Amino acid sequence: MSEPEQRQSHLRLRPGAAVYEISSDEVQISFPNYTVTFTSPVVTAGVLAILAAVGSGAERSEVVPPAAAAADLDPAVIEYLIESLLGSSCLALGRPEVTGPLHEFHAYVSDSPDDLADRLAAARCVLLQPAGDPGGLADALRGLDLRVDIVEAAPGAATAPIIGALAEALESSTVLGCWNLPYRSPFARQVNELALAGTVPVLFGSCEGVVGRVGPFVIPQNTACLECLNQRLLTHAGGPELRAYQQYRLHNDEVVPPVWPMHPLFVRAVAGLFAVELLEVAIGRPSVTSGGFVEYRIGDGAAERHSVVRVPGCNACRPQSPRRVAWDVRLPAPAVKGAAE
Ligand SMILES: [Zn+2]
Repeated sequence: MSEPEQRQSHLRLRPGAAVYEISSDEVQISFPNYTVTFTSPVVTAGVLAILAAVGSGAERSEVVPPAAAAADLDPAVIEYLIESLLGSSCLALGRPEVTGPLHEFHAYVSDSPDDLADRLAAARCVLLQPAGDPGGLADALRGLDLRVDIVEAAPGAATAPIIGALAEALESSTVLGCWNLPYRSPFARQVNELALAGTVPVLFGSCEGVVGRVGPFVIPQNTACLECLNQRLLTHAGGPELRAYQQYRLHNDEVVPPVWPMHPLFVRAVAGLFAVELLEVAIGRPSVTSGGFVEYRIGDGAAERHSVVRVPGCNACRPQSPRRVAWDVRLPAPAVKGAAE
């Protein structure tokens, strides 16, 4: 049997399960976020026999015969109950090849065999962030078995060499994390443009005063970009705010902007949420920040997701291509006045 087939046929109880035998016709399997209840004497006996045969993990072919014998049921019924246990997220597929809190968590939430270790090994992450690790992000990512190359940007430094180093690092990477550059800064715009020019997706995140944001996750040629988000945020801005925005860009052109004031603990919290999201996109799990961002405000105690749709004519992600004309367009010769008759 090949390795993927082995993973598909190896059964184990999902981490976090507690099995409660309520009575001879009811058994409950309870997890942190959900509880599954099986009823009727036949189903209860079958489920308990399957759980006993699975133990700490077993091949499906080794589970069916002993469970059928113990519960005195047809093997087809046991097969059906195994499918029910898989469908209701009580059993998981795959061997726990690597252990640790992150692998336990993924075995709990994942619907596929535990291939987290493979996904982590394949991911190559580049993280661009201000020098000094504000928010302790490098610290948070350490120890995840995720390869992260960190590019630091010291406030006040010229951006050109940093963009050059970033471009080089991106050649061998699968995802870029851009942390704590003010979204409106010319430097963030340069990073956005660099990512859009290639194929590596980029997750933006930052803490700006009382607001923390995770996202957008920009997939080149696919989703709205950071400039689309900036333009959307400015939609309702008045003239004075637009002028201040332009002044900010002028004053911070070609240099790494200063980090804005932020609560030292709030920034750690948002950095942690950014790290969770960066890990999710690095291992290819569905992302809530693709085509949007999640905003956290200090003092509000709530997170809100905002969608960002592409801005028609965004000069970052919609390069001005030649205007298309219909195939049967007529282009009459211009009439030149004053030409010799
Ligand atoms: Zn755009």
